[in-house]
Amino acid sequence: MSEFVDIGVNLTSKSLLRDLEGVMQRAADAGVRQMVVTGTSIAATGQALELCTRFPDRLVFTCGVHPHHADEWDAISPDSLRKLAQHPAARAIGETGLDFNRSYSPHEAQETAFRRQLELAGELEMPVFCHQRDAHPRFVEILRDYRDRIGRIVVHCFTDSREALLDYLDLDCHIGITGWICDERRGLELQQLVKLIPAERLMLETDAPYLLPRDLRPRPSQRINEPAYLPHIFGAVARHRGQNAEELAAQCLANSREFFNL
Ligand SMILES: [Zn+2]
Repeated sequence: MSEFVDIGVNLTSKSLLRDLEGVMQRAADAGVRQMVVTGTSIAATGQALELCTRFPDRLVFTCGVHPHHADEWDAISPDSLRKLAQHPAARAIGETGLDFNRSYSPHEAQETAFRRQLELAGELEMPVFCHQRDAHPRFVEILRDYRDRIGRIVVHCFTDSREALLDYLDLDCHIGITGWICDERRGLELQQLVKLIPAERLMLETDAPYLLPRDLRPRPSQRINEPAYLPHIFGAVARHRGQNAEELAAQCLANSREFFNL
């Protein structure tokens, strides 16, 4: 059985915390031994750190403020993140970026929080875990400003256009693929684009509890996505790339280990 790393799990979500032991066990049974817990706010990053202390062999976390929470960004946020990032299980800054799809925070606040987090990543020499939705032109402009100060960058849950993908690859970003690729309607473009990603830049994630793969059978009664479904997502990725599954799994595992220093 192949081994996987889920590079994006919102394990601090109530729906996953409710049955944390079960979620962890089912993930292990499916070959998903290690996971990266996404920090989406200062408070959630603190919770992510707590979870990592409970499962030190299996969890690491990212330290960040999601664009939806960008209006919470203030003068002490950099210090708060800096402190959280000192923990040995902290492996990246983020999730950070721009989300103009739902715009829960004003665009200006999103850009400020994004820039400050990119600066922090440069200062701390940490990788960045990025989120972009309906904001590619502005997002890539800002990313370009900071690119040479930052080592590794992953654009997680990539669902955008060919043009956006080529821009990210041009900036030598890693690309995170979720169960969006399993969607028989929304995922069609991604199914084509996934072939364009160099194998050494590809990583896998569930973004659980969100984005339950639509073609899972039987349909989970709770409709909650969890890390145990990562091999199912991987199957779709391998199929659409027309690549040997065992080789690709080993490559994705190596990419994730190197990116997050696992
Ligand atoms: Zn995201």
